[in-house]
Amino acid sequence: MDAYYADEFVLPLPEGHRFPMAKYRLLRDRIAEELPETRLHVAPKAEDEELARVHSPEYIAAIAQGTLAPAAQREIGFPWSEAMAERARRSVGATLAAARSALRHGLAGNLAGGTHHAYAGKGSGFCVFNDVAVAARCMQAEWAQAHPGRAQPLQVAVIDLDVHQGNGTAHIFQGDASVFTLSLHGERNFPFRKEDSDLDVPLPDGCGDAQYLDALEHALQTLEQRFEPGLVLYLAGADPHEGDRLGRLALSYDGLEARDRRVFDWAWQRRVPLAFSMAGGYGHDIATTVQAQLNTWRVALQYHCRWQNAAP
Ligand SMILES: [Zn+2]
Repeated sequence: MDAYYADEFVLPLPEGHRFPMAKYRLLRDRIAEELPETRLHVAPKAEDEELARVHSPEYIAAIAQGTLAPAAQREIGFPWSEAMAERARRSVGATLAAARSALRHGLAGNLAGGTHHAYAGKGSGFCVFNDVAVAARCMQAEWAQAHPGRAQPLQVAVIDLDVHQGNGTAHIFQGDASVFTLSLHGERNFPFRKEDSDLDVPLPDGCGDAQYLDALEHALQTLEQRFEPGLVLYLAGADPHEGDRLGRLALSYDGLEARDRRVFDWAWQRRVPLAFSMAGGYGHDIATTVQAQLNTWRVALQYHCRWQNAAP
């Protein structure tokens, strides 16, 4: 299974910054050691024209040149540097590459990404560009080129199970019937002004495994009634975990694994290719986040194996 990482492009943060940048490298090390069937690749850079399928040219240029207004930079939450701009591009490139691989081999992932708070013209909440939105639009364009004469574009379902609402993604695809946005998130969590996804499932503080899995089941049923995807983009956030300092929910490792299995299985049963990204994870202990993410990769490998066995 192809896996794309960008942790070599380290973004310099001031001492004591609350973003756990080290988790990406720790995850790669554990995947290399414990899941050796995973093929790890350095993420390619997303090009301007790829970013421009979602983001405004002014915003892309301001990130490249470091000319964003101070308030807009503060809303992202990272100080600008060339490394920050480079890393943001690579993070989108990783999801693009994973989506291309998934369309060929059934399943692939990004060791980072899931930057769902980014809008077309602004970043927010540690998100610079919206990797999943760019991947959805680019895969639609590439699919249309490969299938000339098809009236309907590639239908893309975004299944966003990060604990925070995918507000940027929801806003980008408002009024676009070819992309279905589903977000399960903490009702009282950031962002405090939510956007309208195609399907929003707000969850109360302290929500545990059973309630969460029940809500997911209903959401997938609703998705199925309303939409027929040709590609799923899955944000497997680790931040609904009970050990997360920002999450406010209370899922166990087993609950998160059952969640991942349900999503991978749902796509597999319908033979819909799926690309996934890690999205958030802010464990009190960083090892907790890395463990939850590693578990996602382990389940993904099992489903990737099914795809390969079923290939003609
Ligand atoms: Zn999150």
